[in-house]
Amino acid sequence: MGLDTSLDGLVTAALERREPERDAALAVLASHDADLLDVVAAAARVRHRFFANRVKLNFLVNLKSGLCPEDCSYCSQRRGSTAGVLRYNWIDPDEAAAAASAAVAAGAARVCLVASGRGPSERDLVRVAATVGEITRRHPGVEICVSLGLLAEGQADQLREAGVFAYNHNLNTAASRYSEICTTHGFTDRQATVATAARGGLSPCSGAIFGMGESDVEIVELASALRDLGPESVPVNFLMPFEGTPMGDRDELSPQRCLRILSLYRFYFPDVELRLAGGRELHLRSLQPLALHVANSIFLGDYLTSEGQPGAEDLAMLADGGFVLEGDPGPRSPAASSAVPSSPAPAGRPDRLTPSAAGGAGGAPGVARPVAIPRRRGPGTPEPPNT
Ligand code: SF4
Repeated sequence: MGLDTSLDGLVTAALERREPERDAALAVLASHDADLLDVVAAAARVRHRFFANRVKLNFLVNLKSGLCPEDCSYCSQRRGSTAGVLRYNWIDPDEAAAAASAAVAAGAARVCLVASGRGPSERDLVRVAATVGEITRRHPGVEICVSLGLLAEGQADQLREAGVFAYNHNLNTAASRYSEICTTHGFTDRQATVATAARGGLSPCSGAIFGMGESDVEIVELASALRDLGPESVPVNFLMPFEGTPMGDRDELSPQRCLRILSLYRFYFPDVELRLAGGRELHLRSLQPLALHVANSIFLGDYLTSEGQPGAEDLAMLADGGFVLEGDPGPRSPAASSAVPSSPAPAGRPDRLTPSAAGGAGGAPGVARPVAIPRRRGPGTPEPPNT
């Protein structure tokens, strides 16, 4: 079967909300760079059918950073990590709400409250409820998602009663290789938490991280497992390699590979919020705007422990592409209507791409190796957030 036939079949199935045929899915991942625009255009047909030109902005607030007892090998907050990330205990509700307010003012429709750890204690839930209360008091219309690790039975109900809308818990990688990236909990633990959240009335959010050595077959396997969970939003992350973690020197993604994976996930999740998440700037680089024709959601500004591009650049990129924000009341800032010059990295802060003798993007000559840059502003610091 040629690629054109596979793409036609994938679009037809997606518009009917059917799961992709496995061979056609694998053909997308195996397609040549010369066919990239055909792949993106096919996924864009699906994206535009269900989401037109709308983009949802999400904003991350890291409530508690580092010091995690779990050993997820991709994570800068894992036990034993020597990554130079911020380490702090729970920030207070006012600090979290102030960061959320800045993001809402910039157009964020969802605030994602995250804390490192295996799972929340009862005391943690009380803290989170206070923070949710403060944010919803200031912004009654904003969606609150929380991500606190593995949930015990009943905890989702407590969160829902506190005003939480969604719960994030990613499956991250295929079941068949989960033990290669984490030994302190398993794939089925993660599946169970997503199911617990949904049973408790929270909107399930669950996604993936790519660039950790997974094969095409494993990417398809994970897509199918995620689809079985019935998520209402699916974050697609591309590994942000942190020096000081076991995956700090990984460099296996190209912008084209990222776009093929993202497009494939649109076929699997045609009418679901598909979020282009961590690693967007590092791995898509100048091709970020193309990805917006596939994903309908991004994070504004920084990530949990690493920097994103300036929030004003995110907004300018959306405006330049003719996208509108979900829930947008109208123009809010001149930055959203014209190109915004890149802010130079402050003195002492390295650029996001570190030159490498071997070259980045899987060793492509002339391309810098991607390295995550630790966040030094926003929650947990005296500096304002990047919105
Ligand atoms: S991903 Fe979560 S559970 Fe795993 S090490 Fe990082 S903070 Fe801990």
